[in-house]
Amino acid sequence: MAEQMHLSKSVAVGQPLVAYFSMEIGLAPGMPTYAGGLGVLAGDTLRSAADLDIPMVAVTLLHRRGYFHQRLDERGLQHEEPVAWPINDFCAPVDQRVVVEIENRTVQVGAWQLRVKGESGGEVPVYLLDTNLPENQPWDRTLTDVLYGGDDYYRLCQEVVLGFGGYRMLRALGYGRLRRFHMNEGHAALLVLALLEEKLASRVPEQAVPADLIDAVREHCVFTTHTPVPAGHDQYSPELAHRVLGDRRCAWLKACGHDHRLNMTQLALRGSRFINGVAMKHGEVSHSLFPGYPIHSITNGVHAVTWAAPSFQSLYDRHLPDWRRDQLSLRYAISIPGEEIWNAHQEAKRVLVEHVNRETNAGFDRDVLTLGFARRAAAYKRGTLIFHDIERLARIAELAGPVQIVFSGKAHPRDQDGKDMIHKVHELRDILRGRIPVAYLTNYDMTLAKLVCAGADVWLNTPLPPMEASGTSGMKAAVNGVPSLSVLDGWWIEGHVEDVTGWSIGDRVEACTEPQAGMDACHAAELYRKLEEKILPCFYRDRGRFIEIMRHAIALNGGFFNTQRMVAQYLHNAYRLVGEYARLG
Ligand SMILES: *Cc1c(COP(=O)(O)O)cnc(C)c1O
Repeated sequence: MAEQMHLSKSVAVGQPLVAYFSMEIGLAPGMPTYAGGLGVLAGDTLRSAADLDIPMVAVTLLHRRGYFHQRLDERGLQHEEPVAWPINDFCAPVDQRVVVEIENRTVQVGAWQLRVKGESGGEVPVYLLDTNLPENQPWDRTLTDVLYGGDDYYRLCQEVVLGFGGYRMLRALGYGRLRRFHMNEGHAALLVLALLEEKLASRVPEQAVPADLIDAVREHCVFTTHTPVPAGHDQYSPELAHRVLGDRRCAWLKACGHDHRLNMTQLALRGSRFINGVAMKHGEVSHSLFPGYPIHSITNGVHAVTWAAPSFQSLYDRHLPDWRRDQLSLRYAISIPGEEIWNAHQEAKRVLVEHVNRETNAGFDRDVLTLGFARRAAAYKRGTLIFHDIERLARIAELAGPVQIVFSGKAHPRDQDGKDMIHKVHELRDILRGRIPVAYLTNYDMTLAKLVCAGADVWLNTPLPPMEASGTSGMKAAVNGVPSLSVLDGWWIEGHVEDVTGWSIGDRVEACTEPQAGMDACHAAELYRKLEEKILPCFYRDRGRFIEIMRHAIALNGGFFNTQRMVAQYLHNAYRLVGEYARLG
């Protein structure tokens, strides 16, 4: 493969104007360089940027040992194993080396290149930083091994590699025209200090950071925040920050308004001209979390071509010949005959049901309504909400029509609540045996996501509001004509039209503002009511209307909640390169 050749220096000299920084990027199903929605979104962003021929380059870490491989024992206890993946099959090493300073020592950083190819010949180069070099001390060689692994010290060191190492690597590779730096979540915020450092270097003598330098950095930076709760933001103690970053860089932090804990979100906010949340509501929530900063909303999307099952790809190829280049044309799915949508769905469902039965022996039936629930196993996603009252659930299945449920998802290695949730789903599966088939597929990844999102009949989403900043798995489902049954949080506030694109659980303005226990009961009751009164009767006895809903899921939601629309919004609202093109001549 040509891509496996060593790249010469000249190859890397391109024209990108935008540099995209992300701790995780889902680049290919075989590359375990992502943990969940954030990384998949980053990958979809780059795929659409390549489609649209946007002059972009991206930086992340190599994650040699991946996030982790999930093994579940019979009781549903999670065991984590490092992933060995064939780096050379996907990436080619570059010759350039840069150094970063960590705790008074220098660490050498190398990189691998991968090119994300677009539908019309455009491409986005991605650099995956790697410290596993013989020049480095043994511990430093592990710095780019594990995504979200280790302790705070390891994490902060990784962020030095991403922010400083990433910036210096782009410079070393010859990317001299970069005008915008997009930080995908706060992990990349040290980039602000790297940019500041460069501006400072041109001033002698180097003194306290003048405000105009911070403003000059801000001019170039764009920050997307993804977490609606303060606890979700990376923070480090002043001692740790000082230990890793040293006097000089801590003085810059102070000039950026930090005199206590190092809060990566605060740093990114302070250093960015354009800041956005990832759905309308999340923008509002973020604004109340960070008063004083103007926060915009650009709602997430998914890369439709990546997430459409093969049967839907060929359906769209037949009816919407431009859809691969122009994902907005999914809007025209409104004219696809219902029977063909149903047939494409039956094919996607057949593949899922066969997979479930082969992997778990759960005895799934192709004619039974299948609920899908797959995402990171985090407590706020409330994976067990559907089992709030299992007797009621079983009775509904008996009276209104049979149901089967497929789950998948990994818990972060240090998230005991998430692990408990997986275990609990396994217990409930056993209790419900013979009444409601429940399957848990292990090692959730992009391949499984595509299978499950397309093959389910209804996509279930039950986050505790307002914790779901956006959510994207329901968008993947929509691209495959699968309607959502979801709490009104994140993107669903925008995507939900009752009985048209799917069904809500609860109201937009939460009737139940009680503590979580009250909210759980309230949402579970609504979930059961919708299943019993609307969804099951519609699925089993009014198939034509169910297919109408599938069609609207594609046309209204697939046509909008895709990364082509999203990247166009970043281009117009956040990057605003028009003036930059003119300046470049
Ligand atoms: C899309 C995706 C997610 C995000 O799912 P949400 O329901 O939006 O949280 C997580 N993990 C993988 C592997 C995905 O493909």
